[in-house]
Amino acid sequence: MEQADNAPPFDPLDGDTRADVAIAGGGFTGLWTAYYLKTLAPELDVCVLEAKRCGFGASGRNGGWMMAALEGETRLLSALDGQRRKQTGALIHGILPEVERVLGQNDIDCDYRRGGGIYAAARYPEQLALQRKLLDEYRAAGFGADDFRWLEAAELSSRLRIAGALGGIYTPHIARIQPARLVLGLARTLRGLGVRIYEQTPVTGLEAGHMVTATGRIRAPSRLLALEGYSSRLPEVSERVLAVQSRIIATEPLDESLWNDIGLAEREVFCEASPLITYGQRSADNRMVFGARGTYRFGGGPRSEFGLHGRDFEEVHRLLAACFPQLESTLITHRWGGTLGVPRNGFPHAVYDRTTGVGTAGGYFGEGVGAANLMARTLADQVLGRDTELVQAPWAFAGSIESQLRRWEPEPLRWLGYKATDLVRRLEESVYRRQGPGWQKRPLQRASGWLDRLKT
Ligand SMILES: Cc1cc2nc3c(=O)[nH]c(=O)nc-3n(C[C@H](O)[C@H](O)[C@H](O)COP(=O)(O)OP(=O)(O)OC[C@H]3O[C@@H](n4cnc5c(N)ncnc54)[C@H](O)[C@@H]3O)c2cc1C
Repeated sequence: MEQADNAPPFDPLDGDTRADVAIAGGGFTGLWTAYYLKTLAPELDVCVLEAKRCGFGASGRNGGWMMAALEGETRLLSALDGQRRKQTGALIHGILPEVERVLGQNDIDCDYRRGGGIYAAARYPEQLALQRKLLDEYRAAGFGADDFRWLEAAELSSRLRIAGALGGIYTPHIARIQPARLVLGLARTLRGLGVRIYEQTPVTGLEAGHMVTATGRIRAPSRLLALEGYSSRLPEVSERVLAVQSRIIATEPLDESLWNDIGLAEREVFCEASPLITYGQRSADNRMVFGARGTYRFGGGPRSEFGLHGRDFEEVHRLLAACFPQLESTLITHRWGGTLGVPRNGFPHAVYDRTTGVGTAGGYFGEGVGAANLMARTLADQVLGRDTELVQAPWAFAGSIESQLRRWEPEPLRWLGYKATDLVRRLEESVYRRQGPGWQKRPLQRASGWLDRLKT
């Protein structure tokens, strides 16, 4: 985010204008959508309106796992018949090759390194059952051992010396990036292609044929909302995608001997099956970047500012030290958080209404760094009326946002639901970590299974 802040800004909108397509939101979804629209149809006049700076949202401040994956993909794929399942799985796994093509073609350096990802079971034995269940789900969704394969404890430890390593899953379909650098590279590329970007220009509403801001109106036949965790700000998408926070810390650069001790020689990203959703990567400048589940604010609004030394980050630091005791007293130089979007539909979406010209894409949970590329390609094809595999994909919807995306339950139900889930997950973590007796675990396992079913 520091890098995004230091880049030369784009001017705000000043007065009324026209465009063929106006996009609200300068994160990965908005920028990739502009990229595909402009490269597929260079004659189009495309503009992006960003409330703050491009990358101010989750795109400039995430953990840098670029996954060829969609949250909810195993459920989505398991519901399809054989041939369609295979095609759809290939579209999802095509995300990284496509991103690699664009990065190479446009000379975008974002520390991209495709070292794969490790889903570890560590610290307590229940994680092993969770990872085995996850592998079964991948198999049922049609993915083979080339896509996801089991790591026995010894192989896991040869790649990642995480405390209590028991086993895990390896997938080659994840790359590490420095996300703010990708935002900057995309914005620069768009400028070169002739896309107009207006920063410090919050969209305040949609009116027939117009996108409205405080400093001018844009007349545009196609108007797209790429607001994700900030969706509460516009009625068309608010209540459909909820804002939830995640938190990250980064250590000072670690010397080579510490990295030899920890592993990640191929720059694999990693997580462990904790209910507190931990994730990490080794950055290009050799820091350990480590994040964990965050918070939900009553009402579902976004949050960009985080008290840097409060409870928010103590828990993340404690989890980092539990996974890597050798880092317990390592200096933490960066702490930040951000807002991601959770869709009521249960998986990401691209929606476009040809009659009104209004569309949206998002709903990534915390997995939008790669998925935004796929949803943006889908939305661009929908806007251009192209007859492609993408517009037939199960995440593509034709019609109004209102008719296609489910609405979240009203408050206080959402807040209570989040708090209940959070409480169960924290209890699970603490009982499992302490190896509490069976009578403590059983009700938690039942509650946890029940909460998982609620996602569908
Ligand atoms: C801490 C954290 C860690 C994460 N780690 C990972 C990870 O490692 N891997 C992964 O796949 N995903 C991760 N995610 C999720 C991922 O970052 C997001 O899914 C993805 O960046 C969403 O991109 P987006 O463009 O849809 O939304 P955003 O990047 O949030 O962009 C929305 C933009 O809209 C702007 N905006 C808001 N209101 C308005 C308005 N009224 N008018 C105009 N513009 C407006 C915002 O300023 C923002 O820039 C993480 C998220 C967080 C918060």
